Amino acid sequence: MLIDLHTHSDRSDGTESPAVLVRRAREHAVDVLGLTDHDTTEGWQEAAEAAEAYGVALVRGIEVSCTFRGAGVHLLAYLPDPTYTPLAEELQLILDGRNARLPATLDRLRGLGVDIDVDDVRRVSGETAAMGRPHVADALVERGVVADRNEAFATFLGPQGPAYVGRYAADLETMVGVVADAGGASVLAHPWARRHDHGALDESGLAGLQALGLAGVEVDHQDHSPLVRERLRALADRLGLLVTGSSDHHGAGKVGHELGCNTTAPDQLDRLLDVAARAAAASGRTAPGLLRA
Ligand code: AMP
Ligand code: ZN
Ligand code: FE
Ligand code: FE
Repeated sequence: MLIDLHTHSDRSDGTESPAVLVRRAREHAVDVLGLTDHDTTEGWQEAAEAAEAYGVALVRGIEVSCTFRGAGVHLLAYLPDPTYTPLAEELQLILDGRNARLPATLDRLRGLGVDIDVDDVRRVSGETAAMGRPHVADALVERGVVADRNEAFATFLGPQGPAYVGRYAADLETMVGVVADAGGASVLAHPWARRHDHGALDESGLAGLQALGLAGVEVDHQDHSPLVRERLRALADRLGLLVTGSSDHHGAGKVGHELGCNTTAPDQLDRLLDVAARAAAASGRTAPGLLRA
């Protein structure tokens, strides 16, 4: 039983359409796939149709851009009702922030002697609803300015890079509550990735979020070393948070994130589905639920 709960399609910054992503999950023997595009549910419908056609079980989710005590944090929202107004409004604010940032990013690049315009980015970004730095990176690759997305982030777009521009993100504590009220279950994505210390997401930070409704943490992720995984798993056990593992697949957009490279244990998926079912019952909302193969 292969369960991969965090992947991206071209409706955000992956490179495969939702249907191709689901087909590739089938080819990689993934039994349960989570589609978690950044800040959008645009891919849900196509993925649901493909999941039925290819016999893959589907967990519909969103990777929501949040901030927690000044740091960016990604929250995986599984199976929320996307029509719940507070959720829909927050996602719209984030998407608006993404679009508003693009001209400012391009101005910075122009100041550095790299002249690309909005149309260049839109051409390479295809059907995305969540315009982001990866698409600017793709435009830079197309222009021959850099070799790949990694070089674009290292040279220009990373948080310390000369073309970095911030954007709106949701308040994490608020969003954990919103996801629960929308009938969903929330899991922190790669909480200890690329950090020298754990910042605000230490034991007391995680316990505080759990009190607000956080259900789990993503432990098995490519950005967590074996030691980080061991420590985070132990902490999750101590707190009673469920634990997931996933590829964070982005198609050709991220190397070393092939479908099924990390997986979630079946009993942890059961816990996740149980949390979502209880949240949906408590909120009285019609949440999407697991689409069975
Ligand atoms: P944005 O959401 O526009 O701020 O862009 C952040 C997204 O860019 C992350 O969620 C990743 O998917 C992607 N990303 C970050 N760093 C890199 C990198 N070095 N190479 C490729 N993609 C990256
Ligand atoms: Zn991404
Ligand atoms: Fe992420
Ligand atoms: Fe992701």
